[in-house]
Amino acid sequence: MSLKKIKLPRRYNYIACFLTLNCNLRCDYCINYYGGGNKFKNSIIAGKKWVEMLNRLVCPSDLPITIQGGEPGLHPDLIWIIKNLRQDLNIDILTNLCFDVDKFIDNINPGRLRRDAPYPNIRVSYHPPYMDLDELIKKVLKMQQAGFSIGIFSILHPQFKQEVLKTKEKCYGLGIDFRTKEFLGEFNAQIYGTYLYPEAVGNGKRKRCLCRTSELIIGPNADIYRCHHDLYKDLPPLGNMSDSDFEIKDIFRECSQFGDCNPCDIKVKTNRFQVYGNTSVEIKDVK
Ligand code: SF4
Ligand code: SF4
Repeated sequence: MSLKKIKLPRRYNYIACFLTLNCNLRCDYCINYYGGGNKFKNSIIAGKKWVEMLNRLVCPSDLPITIQGGEPGLHPDLIWIIKNLRQDLNIDILTNLCFDVDKFIDNINPGRLRRDAPYPNIRVSYHPPYMDLDELIKKVLKMQQAGFSIGIFSILHPQFKQEVLKTKEKCYGLGIDFRTKEFLGEFNAQIYGTYLYPEAVGNGKRKRCLCRTSELIIGPNADIYRCHHDLYKDLPPLGNMSDSDFEIKDIFRECSQFGDCNPCDIKVKTNRFQVYGNTSVEIKDVK
């Protein structure tokens, strides 16, 4: 039976496709572990099935599918998925670049991952305590020379902020786009990050509220979640990408987890037009 198209509301800003939550690294500040750990260790959906499900999406050209994880390079069909998604669906990738870049370059046309946006389409996360910088730079330059839109992103973690800033200078000198991001979450009993609803993060006291998302969050099992909090905690999903009649309801939903929200959902960030001041979710009636 063919699957019905899934139309995204015009106000949606992000499509996150978590091909896997497995990762080759284990950064101790990883936001994926905010909910207590990876609950999807054995969830790998074959590339053919992913393509069938993602090809249902109807979305504007300025709203790409962001393929991420965990580390999406660990999915055995990453290249096949990129090659077989509908050509009018734009694609971004978030990765730590652990995959074989030669194989990637040989198989993917850089034009497939290009779109008119003021940031690179392949965004490589750099984690100083866990990665070899020289190795990473070599891989990034190789991809760049092959014509890919690629850049490195690193968080300003209080423990290695200075190292990141030095690396930024080095990368600029080599002609690599390097951007820094705010550290989100807890370190030394302090909550870091700029949040639209500060009480929603790291608060022992849970409250009830109404919450509406502007993102399509698709987990490794193709379940669709209200928010990152629900994905990482594997709370009951809203549906699954393989439900033939699934449709997005752009509504406020009741939630009793305000206070335990994931920083990703509450942080102040840019929207897809790069306008600052946006958040993934809108919250009201907190009590
Ligand atoms: S590379 Fe990213 S996904 Fe993997 S452990 Fe580190 S922060 Fe988490
Ligand atoms: S209030 Fe927090 S936990 Fe609840 S749905 Fe919104 S973002 Fe998710």
